[in-house]
Amino acid sequence: MSGVFGVYSKDKSVNIAEQIYYGLYALQHRGQQSAGIAVRDKDLIEWHKDKGLVPEVFKSQDLDKLPGDAGIGHVRYSSSGDVSKGNIEPLVLKYISGYMAIAKNGNIINANKLRGKLEADGCMFHTTNDTEVLAALLTKFRISSEHIEDSVEQMVKYIQGSYSIVMITPRFLIGLRDPLGIMPLCIGRINGATYVISSESAAIDAVDGEFIRDVEPGELVLIDSDGIQSRRLFDCKKSSLCIFEHVYFARPDSIVDGASTHDARVNAGRILAKEHPVQADVVIGIPDGGTDMAYGFAQESNIVAPAGLLRNKYVGRAFIAPNQNAREIAVKIKFNPVKTEVKGKRVVLIDDSIVRGTTTKTLVRMLREAGAKEVHLRIGSPPYKYPCYFGVDTSSRGQLLASKNDKETICEWIGADSLEYISYEGIIKAPVNSKVDFCTSCFTGVYPVDIPKEF
Ligand code: SF4
Repeated sequence: MSGVFGVYSKDKSVNIAEQIYYGLYALQHRGQQSAGIAVRDKDLIEWHKDKGLVPEVFKSQDLDKLPGDAGIGHVRYSSSGDVSKGNIEPLVLKYISGYMAIAKNGNIINANKLRGKLEADGCMFHTTNDTEVLAALLTKFRISSEHIEDSVEQMVKYIQGSYSIVMITPRFLIGLRDPLGIMPLCIGRINGATYVISSESAAIDAVDGEFIRDVEPGELVLIDSDGIQSRRLFDCKKSSLCIFEHVYFARPDSIVDGASTHDARVNAGRILAKEHPVQADVVIGIPDGGTDMAYGFAQESNIVAPAGLLRNKYVGRAFIAPNQNAREIAVKIKFNPVKTEVKGKRVVLIDDSIVRGTTTKTLVRMLREAGAKEVHLRIGSPPYKYPCYFGVDTSSRGQLLASKNDKETICEWIGADSLEYISYEGIIKAPVNSKVDFCTSCFTGVYPVDIPKEF
């Protein structure tokens, strides 16, 4: 999972790098390992990128060195390739038409096979990042194509997996979404002359932009001084937006493919309360995903939902915890129960999901130590049993608690008084007004594309 953000402006007074910086800041939750910005200035592309959070990577003097009329940015959570500096996006390359920069959210599942074929053709790679495979295909096809959009059309015939891509070429700011729309991508506008492409609508809000629309699954969007052009590269019959955008990934103030993430989480909480009611005194959500779900659960079941679990805002998802002991300490630094809200109470603890379960187990113990009489765990997504190959770092089944353990075993291991999950039907209907269908492969083991044998 990563975040991408692109800006093009006809208005020369717009500071492109600064707009991208603010956009990336708003997308920081999507990736904390590295950040990068590349800006086109006439025929050249300059960039600045490094490991770390957005404010650590960019100082104002770095942004001052990036003038131009179009640019893209990326915050990275590594799902393919290692976390070395060479893999940090955007990738910038020189090709037959000039310079190009590319950044992606998603995972190209046949990238290794394509890389092998390209290497056999004499192509050289500088990174282990699957985005470089896309760049290599694009530049290869650009030699025989009249327009960049024709080479993109050629490229997508070869790649499989999830991808929401932003690019700058000598003429365009480009947005591209995979044919199933697994990862989100949307378009906005600032004051008429400036266009934005973003992983989430909340980042368009952050730069004072107006949301125009989502990029459709399988759509290629090209932006230049003539405005927006669109080309449908696939005849998309079924979409598969990652359901976890609504459960966990996206910000609650984002609208993803027509559905409010906040509303989806509140609805999931309501549905969970209807499906699995419990006699309790307080409902406590585990921030962030569980907070809105707890609100919905509390509304539906008429139980109060105090702020019973404090989250330390200054600890990011990237907190380093190399062993089990350190991981437990990390949870304690990140969360702390408000003792007066839980002491002597029957607590319903709401989490958005259980993947490995270690954080949940520690939190249940912390609530008991804080005096909770009972802890009933309610989960706002069905059991996470199967690995994700589309960009979420759970690619081994052995890491997934629910893949080998039934509900009772998990409940006992976590130390809760009861454990219930929202139903599959429940989570599907929680994002009301969604214009798309969902990928739910990590619940069902049924994948929307063929997964290569090596996985
Ligand atoms: S497998 Fe799960 S986490 Fe991965 S894209 Fe599909 S719904 Fe999202």
